[in-house]
This record gives sequence, structure tokens and C-alpha cells, in this order.
Amino acid sequence: MTTAAAVVEERTASGLTFFDHVNAAFDEAAKHTEHDPTLLEQVKWVNSVYRMSFPLRRDDGSIEVIHAWRAEHSHHRLPTKGGIRYAMNVNEDEVMALAALMTYKCALVDVPFGGAKGGIQIDRGRYSEGELERLTRRYTAELQRKSFIGPGKDVPAPDYGTGEQEMAWIADTYSQIEHGEVNVAACVTGKPVEHGGIQGRTQATGLGVFFGVREACSYEDDMAKLGLEPGIAGKRVVIQGLGNVGYHAAKYLQGAGAKLVGLAEFEGAIADPGGLAIDDVVEHRKTTGSILDFPGASNIEPSHKALELDCDILIPAALENQISRENIERISCRILAEAANGPTTSYASRAAAKRGILVIPDVYLNAGGVTVSYFEWLKNLSHVRFGRMQKRFEESVRKDLLHAMSSATGASFSRDEIKILARGADEIDLVNSGLEETMATAYHHIRRFRQKVGPGVDLRTAAMALAIDKVAASYKTAGIFP
Ligand code: GLU
Repeated sequence: MTTAAAVVEERTASGLTFFDHVNAAFDEAAKHTEHDPTLLEQVKWVNSVYRMSFPLRRDDGSIEVIHAWRAEHSHHRLPTKGGIRYAMNVNEDEVMALAALMTYKCALVDVPFGGAKGGIQIDRGRYSEGELERLTRRYTAELQRKSFIGPGKDVPAPDYGTGEQEMAWIADTYSQIEHGEVNVAACVTGKPVEHGGIQGRTQATGLGVFFGVREACSYEDDMAKLGLEPGIAGKRVVIQGLGNVGYHAAKYLQGAGAKLVGLAEFEGAIADPGGLAIDDVVEHRKTTGSILDFPGASNIEPSHKALELDCDILIPAALENQISRENIERISCRILAEAANGPTTSYASRAAAKRGILVIPDVYLNAGGVTVSYFEWLKNLSHVRFGRMQKRFEESVRKDLLHAMSSATGASFSRDEIKILARGADEIDLVNSGLEETMATAYHHIRRFRQKVGPGVDLRTAAMALAIDKVAASYKTAGIFP
């Protein structure tokens, strides 16, 4: 079995770790800001890392030592925020890199948090539900012991290999320890809706990816440079990863008229130039255990070859370092939309930009999850569901308005028309509209910043530079740095 130390030592083919790649991107971007080098150094490094090992009693009575981490990259805003992943390749370098990306991500979408990330180094498929519950609760207690969790300190969320269930265990464990603290529910986000979660959190990252790609595709001049028409309809899309993010991104893109020409998963990939119906593929995988042999599609093996399919938009929505020095020259897309965290190495990202590929960077594109987490946190702190206070009031004002229009014009509205036109906003409407506004505005700001720093600068560098600028500016207001 791989030990924690061995994994920490593991290097990518280029000899750089994931955090090295993030910092290489940081250094490149920082050149386009005018901040003091000491301040930049403070922004760049991880403020604190908690590395823990604890025993887990397995169902068969044996005991196993579990290795886990939580990294808090920046405390310029509190709480710090970021997911917890359960995967074998979790290691200290990875959580540090991902925590740093969370800082920049939150800054870009104006979510007032510092960045954090955590992880437990396990292959979650090897553990029973009871074992997962025990190790999640123990991890939470460890975080609590060192003040690495709390509504105003550090707020975890789902990530690769975790979901609502783990978040519910975290909230429950925390509330047992902090019994009576009024804001306990805000100690973690991504909870089930019936336990203080928010409508729309599950699909948030995928929907955010959709809003981001749609925004990028809406600029006529940018699309003309890529030889593409503006808009989503008709665009040929390849997606790697059918997890929560990939699936929802696929669903919304298909809903807007894009054609899914390729899908990749662990077991292999499938392609169909005529378009794959996402829900049918998911159904096929449920019945057969694999996406392979989907009727009408051709199989592609090994799976990562699907990244090389000719398409307009390539969406890596799985793990980091999928597009590297090794395969970048064979990638054949016009837009590389990074739904995963760190799917493209810094070398590959530069090479893609040189080839004229528009890279929509992860640090912006997958910010939908944390944006809706922010809404959930606000909901928990306000102890009231979004829409509860105003929905009925809005409806009655609109009905009065429709009546007044009818009286003034003599025209009447049908019951169905009144229902549609007078409808007040529910929680899900407000969450989705807040997410759409956030993603659209952030893209606009990054694009404008890019124009300001110069046409030779790619979108990732511009996004990073803007994020650094924002974080550095808030360190400055604390008065420590000149
Ligand atoms: N794990 C997600 C991310 O990487 C969400 C983090 C959060 O909601 O705090 O952005």
C-alpha cells in the first residue's frame, strides 16, 4: 500500500508537484500586479497546515491508521473555506495547492472567505458506511480540537469522494461538541437540505460551469478569433468525468443545445459525433456498470484518449494534471473549460494558450460550488430560508398589478398566465440567479482585467493576477504591509 510519506514525495512527470504548478502560475501572474514582493510572498504561501493520523477500527475488528490533512491557505478573510476529499492520492502537497486555489477562487467571485482544503487518504470504496461515518466523525473532532473548524474559523464542504452524507456527519459531530452555540449549522456547507443545506448546492458547480462557458461564448469577437459562432447551441463538447460536476455541466449544456460528442470515465470513454444523450448514458452505466458499449457510440480505450477528440469545448471535470506536457499537443479543442481543480499543468496551459486555445481557468470556472456554499452559510447565519419573507408579498403585489392592467386595458389574463407572471421567488430561484449573476460578473471582470494588462496575456494569468490583486489589497487594508 502507498504510504502517506511516499505519496507526499510523489512528483509529476515534469518534476514539479501540484503546489509547484500553482505557484508557477502565481509567479507568472504576479508580474502583472504592482505589489510589494514581501506582500506577494505572504499571499502565496499556506498559512497553516494540520496533518493528523488517527486509528480507525474496521468492521472486522482490525485497526488501521488513517492519514488526513487540513490546509488553511489565507486568513485575510474569515472563515476559510474549501472542500474535503476522500481519495488515495490525497497528500499534503495536494491539499496545500487546492487550498491556495480556493483563496484565488473566492477572491475572483467576491466570496468573502480565505481558502482552505482538507482530505483523508483513503480509497473510499473499501470502507463500509459505518466505517466512513466513524472516520468522518473522528476527523471532525480532530479539526475541532485544533480550531480548524467553526462557522467563523474554517468551514468545510464536499469535494472529490465526499457529499451530503459526510457533511451531515460533520455538522452533527460539531454540534455535539459545541452544544448550544447558535450558529453550529454554519460550520460546514453542502449539508442535506433537511439539515440546514440549501436548494441547488448539489448542482451548483456544474451549473456554474455552464454559466461560465455560456458567458465566455457570448463575446462575438472572442469567438470569431477561435473560428466559432457565439452561443452554446450546436457546440461540440467532450467531458471527462461523470461525477457531480461533469454530469450537471453536461446536462445544462445539452439543455442549451450543445452536442455531447464524447464522454470519459474510469472504465473507458465513448464517442458519437451525432451526440450522446447524457441521461441515457447514465442509465446505461447504472444497468451495465460501465459507459462502454453505449448503443450507437464507439468505445475509446484507454479513457484519456477521449481528451484528444476533435471538439469545440473540452471539459475536464475529474482530477488534476489530466492535460500535461505529455498530451497537450494532441488536444484538439478550441475552448478548454477547466471544471476540475488543476486539470491542466502550468506547462500545458501555456502551450494551449500559444496554440490559440481559450483556456477558461478552474480558478474561475468551478467557483459555482463555493458561491452557493456562501449562500448556504448566509442562510445558516440568518436562520431563515431564502424567499420566506418576501415570496407571498411579491406575489400579491404582482397580482394587484395584473388586475390594474386588466382594468386599464380591458384585456384579461388566464389563471395559468397569472400563476406564471405573479410567481414570487423560491429559494432555488434566488440561489440560481445569485449564481448566474456571480459567474457572469466575474467573467466580465477577468476579461476586462486581461484587456488592461495586455492582449498577450492569457485568461488564466489574467484571472490569477486579478485574484492576487484582490487578496493583496485586502492584506493592505489590515495595515501590516505598505
Ligand atoms: N469543493 C468545492 C471547491 O473546490 C467547494 C468548496 C466549498 O463549497 O467550500 O470549490
